[in-house]
Amino acid sequence: MTRADTPAPTPSFRSDVTVELVKHSAADTDVLWAARVSTAGEQSLEELHKDPERSKGLINFLMRDRHGSPFEHNSMTFFVSAPLFVFREFHRHRVGWSYNEESGRYRQLEPVFYVPDESRKLVQEGRPGKYVFVEGTEAQHELVGRAMTDSYRQAYETYEEMLAAGVAREVARAVLPVGLYSSMYATCNARSLMHFLGLRTQHEEARVPSFPQREIEMVAELMEAEWAKLMPLTYAAFNANGRTAP
Ligand SMILES: Cc1cc2nc3c(=O)[nH]c(=O)nc-3n(C[C@H](O)[C@H](O)[C@H](O)COP(=O)(O)OP(=O)(O)OC[C@H]3O[C@@H](n4cnc5c(N)ncnc54)[C@H](O)[C@@H]3O)c2cc1C
Repeated sequence: MTRADTPAPTPSFRSDVTVELVKHSAADTDVLWAARVSTAGEQSLEELHKDPERSKGLINFLMRDRHGSPFEHNSMTFFVSAPLFVFREFHRHRVGWSYNEESGRYRQLEPVFYVPDESRKLVQEGRPGKYVFVEGTEAQHELVGRAMTDSYRQAYETYEEMLAAGVAREVARAVLPVGLYSSMYATCNARSLMHFLGLRTQHEEARVPSFPQREIEMVAELMEAEWAKLMPLTYAAFNANGRTAP
């Protein structure tokens, strides 16, 4: 079948992001083991389960006094599906993160695009660094939905037109907008994840408030929920100490 015979994929529109924990080796005991090697040396593995209250206290002490390296001896790999503009922000996190993203050079990009749902606050009020978001009007929501879907359809038609004319995918993709969905594997450890969460979530227990874009915060919240199940003591200590990475 040639490209000319293949039916054009129909654009689809989403308002969500997805995060799947695909692989992990991460537990509170990894932190304790790494910390206790300082004093117990090779014996430290045997000490792990002896005294749970002491373990909790040690993790809290490490977090509070910012002894960060014991939180690095673990690994979590997430599969993330989100719009390109989220990935642009995500990839600014350089330390303790590994990324692999789908290619727009080796295969045709699927026409899946982001359109915010009614829960997304549309209007920004206040000055940069000190602003709030408020609900949009019905007319604003209607405009955003219509303008985005029209624009996405047009961009994708142009992309397809160029592909059909034999233009390389890596050239034709220049017309596609940042609302296009992409996917990636992202691997981190608890320390790098805490740094990410401190910056990309808004939380009442945060010592230093941050003002992330809602869509990357949606990704961060899903990652946080997975991590909290794997390392409950570390997670509790993170919150108790103002959600700042050690
Ligand atoms: C709300 C918000 C708004 C933002 N707005 C903008 C914006 O308008 N424009 C923009 O360009 N970016 C913006 N950013 C991105 C921001 O500047 C960071 O690039 C991003 O948050 C990653 O943080 P990081 O560098 O601490 O993380 P990582 O790259 O993971 O680094 C972790 C830590 O390692 C250390 N480190 C890493 N690299 C170096 C280095 N080269 N030298 C010294 N120390 C280093 C630092 O202590 C750093 O905190 C924004 C981020 C947030 C959360």
